[in-house]
Amino acid sequence: MSSFSELPTVKPDAAFTLLAAYKTDTSSNKVDLCPGFYRDENGRPWILSSVIQAKERIHADPKVNHEHLPLAGHTELLRQSKELVFGKEDRDLKRVASIQTVSGTGANHLAALFLSTKLNPKTVWFPNLGWINHTAIWKLAGSHVQQRFYPYFNGENQIIDFDAMVEVLREAQKGDVIVLHACAHNPTGVDLSKEQWNTLATICKNTGLFPVFDLAYQGLASGDVRQDASAISDFFDRGNLEFVVAQSYSKNFGLYGERIGILHIAALDVTAAAKITPALTQLSRAEITSCPSYGARIISQILGDLKLYDQWLEDLATMHNRMKTMRESLYHGLLVRKVRGSWDHILTDTGMFSMTGLSTTQVTAMKEKHHIYLLPSGRISVTGLTTRNIDHVVTALEDILG
Ligand code: PMP
Repeated sequence: MSSFSELPTVKPDAAFTLLAAYKTDTSSNKVDLCPGFYRDENGRPWILSSVIQAKERIHADPKVNHEHLPLAGHTELLRQSKELVFGKEDRDLKRVASIQTVSGTGANHLAALFLSTKLNPKTVWFPNLGWINHTAIWKLAGSHVQQRFYPYFNGENQIIDFDAMVEVLREAQKGDVIVLHACAHNPTGVDLSKEQWNTLATICKNTGLFPVFDLAYQGLASGDVRQDASAISDFFDRGNLEFVVAQSYSKNFGLYGERIGILHIAALDVTAAAKITPALTQLSRAEITSCPSYGARIISQILGDLKLYDQWLEDLATMHNRMKTMRESLYHGLLVRKVRGSWDHILTDTGMFSMTGLSTTQVTAMKEKHHIYLLPSGRISVTGLTTRNIDHVVTALEDILG
């Protein structure tokens, strides 16, 4: 008998299962509203112009070889990433320890591994709702840490229940970790206001809560890279908070398969930061030795060259504007057809996602009757909308919701 015959059956990943079902759906009307990946106006993956140009330069450079990157990652990219995330104006970025990771997932994983052993939190707090992989990552990398949820999204009126959030966080203890989405909250598309971030920073300081910012959509929430990281630079500028940033380059460079991310730890002083980097490197060495180089080179080319950087900002604007236009079209379609529900949030939500309020039964009906795929939670990704399919989506929502 196999040593593994008693293995429990593992349910397949919901999002990736839907993606597979969508691919085998033969309907010409099918629409995929699941993806956390940007899609162009034809519903296809998009390679950014800045990325195409950076690749050409790398391929033309005879000095590029296939050696390992240093253990901590692409040195220049680490420096550039700190500036992109924290801002470079008069900031002492030496108190930030940074290491390259296997994308945002890897950054979250390494953060969980490092914090669960070095900070020894009793509890890690996640938003309700939130990104499902956060809990899975912490279960794996910080299995002794208790998991709790703080109220975040109120589905009734599609806003953040900040009072409830603050109330529940009163139960947090010194050294607990709180996971936060820096911008373009997944799955709700609703972010904290500047005032709410300020209040939260004070709570973190007073309670001794340790923030982990997940930064997976920088540039895709407001369209402005600095604005989307403003909560992070505000926390940093307080000078009295230590925190983590798990940065992903998947979405804002359209480099999903290359797996590029950075884990930053902002320490109170330079001496502490200098100790953190080798500790992170030791953990990373045992898991992956070093990170993939190709994507890191592409991004470093772009961030290090004025012309390519400007092109990248234009590429971000292209993605951001298309998502905004799709939000407007969906909103107007729903309004014109008087589809039941309140839809104003579709216009004000940021990033790729919005909640529709559909129940799981209604989500199933969308798929079975109309070949429209969304997550069981009722989340849609506006990147799946195009001028060609939007009418079909509105008609289907009208049919399901009345
Ligand atoms: N955090 C959040 C909130 C996400 O939505 C995602 C991607 N869905 C990630 C992290 C990680 O993405 P990746 O590992 O591709 O960088």
